[in-house]
Amino acid sequence: NKCPPIGWNFDNSYAELPETFYSKVKPTPVRSPQLVILNDSLAISLGLDIQGLKSNEGIEVLAGNKLLEGFFPLAQAYAGHQFGHFTMLGDGRAILLGEQLNAKGERFDIQLKGPGRTPYSRGGDGRAGLGPMLREYIISEAMNALGIPTTRSLTVVTTGESVVRETLQPGAILTRTASSHIRVGTFQYIANWGSVEELKQLADYTINRHFPNIKDSDDKYLGLLREVSKRQAELIAKWQLVGFIHGVMNTDNMAIGGETIDYGPCAFMDTYDTKTVFSSIDRHGRYAYENQPKIGAWNLARFAETLLPLLHQEESQAITIAQQELEKFMPQYESIWLKGMRAKLGLFGEVPEDEALINSLLSIMEKHKADYTNTFRTLTLNSKDKKDITDMNNKYGIFKATEFIQWQEKWMGRKARQQEKMESSYQLMKSSNPAVIPRNHRVEEALEAAVGEQDYRVMEELLEVLKDPYAYTSDQIPYSALPSESSQPYKTFCGT
Ligand code: AMP
Ligand code: MG
Ligand code: MG
Repeated sequence: NKCPPIGWNFDNSYAELPETFYSKVKPTPVRSPQLVILNDSLAISLGLDIQGLKSNEGIEVLAGNKLLEGFFPLAQAYAGHQFGHFTMLGDGRAILLGEQLNAKGERFDIQLKGPGRTPYSRGGDGRAGLGPMLREYIISEAMNALGIPTTRSLTVVTTGESVVRETLQPGAILTRTASSHIRVGTFQYIANWGSVEELKQLADYTINRHFPNIKDSDDKYLGLLREVSKRQAELIAKWQLVGFIHGVMNTDNMAIGGETIDYGPCAFMDTYDTKTVFSSIDRHGRYAYENQPKIGAWNLARFAETLLPLLHQEESQAITIAQQELEKFMPQYESIWLKGMRAKLGLFGEVPEDEALINSLLSIMEKHKADYTNTFRTLTLNSKDKKDITDMNNKYGIFKATEFIQWQEKWMGRKARQQEKMESSYQLMKSSNPAVIPRNHRVEEALEAAVGEQDYRVMEELLEVLKDPYAYTSDQIPYSALPSESSQPYKTFCGT
């Protein structure tokens, strides 16, 4: 019984950096690994063979039980501001196996999450529970389908061992892919404990890997700050536009490549409330929905601080240069957000009143505790077919409110004055307003069936409708239903 070749094709560039940057460490083998979910389309885009991944050898690799030729397992060193406090961290429960090159020459980190202890584990066990790993799988894949840059999930295997949390839970390992795992915290670590030479090495490495277009420019380190800021402005605007709350925007959880990373306490909001916080440990709302852009700016300032020695010989000059660049972040974020909001409302072109029109809708939504996703979904459907809104009228009081009706008249007026046809406006809305998001009660239901009853069908169905959130198919309709009124406020947890 010959195994098909899996297709691993590693080229480990991070391992060529000085050893200050990481620790060589092997995954700790687990008792009896079983594959519970595999991302076929991601596997194919990585150049991996699905049958190979499902074979014994494939699963042994994904569980950390077997290392193949070409692997270079390591835990990355990094630091970070956690809720504002600076500390040394590092991959405490993650091991990078290597970097997969696909046929197009694209490079992907292949990382195991939950493979056992590393030199950065501190008091932790280096392990992960099945529920949280499946949760990361569902939400990261939903984000990808929404068109939001993100790390992705290739597989989850159960380990046959238990992890001790508040209760005993089945252990699991997630295989995560990323364009890299370089974080703001990676720069903070080197800036604090490395040499300027090493800092330069990290900056050059990052530029070559993520921003090769600036590698020959005279001010490439300033260019690095500019590119990273731009990607964060785009990323956070996209979060805001779909109502995604990351939950733990510590600087170690901000990826330099601009992907969403670390799906611990994140969640999508149902009711539109700008103060929404889900994370049980975020008591002061530092990472609330409305704060995400500001926190992005704060984290970028921490990133800029690490680059000062590369920006100018004189610190005061370097600070001025960095500040000028950082000042561009908010306007950039706001303009991307505004563009996205215009699209959500089917508006072409730009008129000065648009911002007021948008903000007025948002404040009506907040006042009427409207569901964020369903409000835009209903407006979209209404642009096509008036029937749907009558149905939704019964469910959402907002559409009956006088202020909404007045707002709608202004919106219709604005749309009537644009040259584009109503059909184009509807198409623009449809491609900007998801019909379905991974609603918390649906995610919980899927996890309960999977973890509690080893029934993965609920999760598979959820993943199926999340694959094309802009499709507006009839099988997505049940997934737009809201949680029952009696549900407790939704709470999320970090490293479980
Ligand atoms: P996070 O809150 O997920 O960003 O994690 C913060 C830090 O805690 C990182 O250095 C993680 O690697 C580490 N960590 C989280 N859970 C564990 C665990 N079970 N064992 C060891 N380290 C962990
Ligand atoms: Mg983290
Ligand atoms: Mg985490």
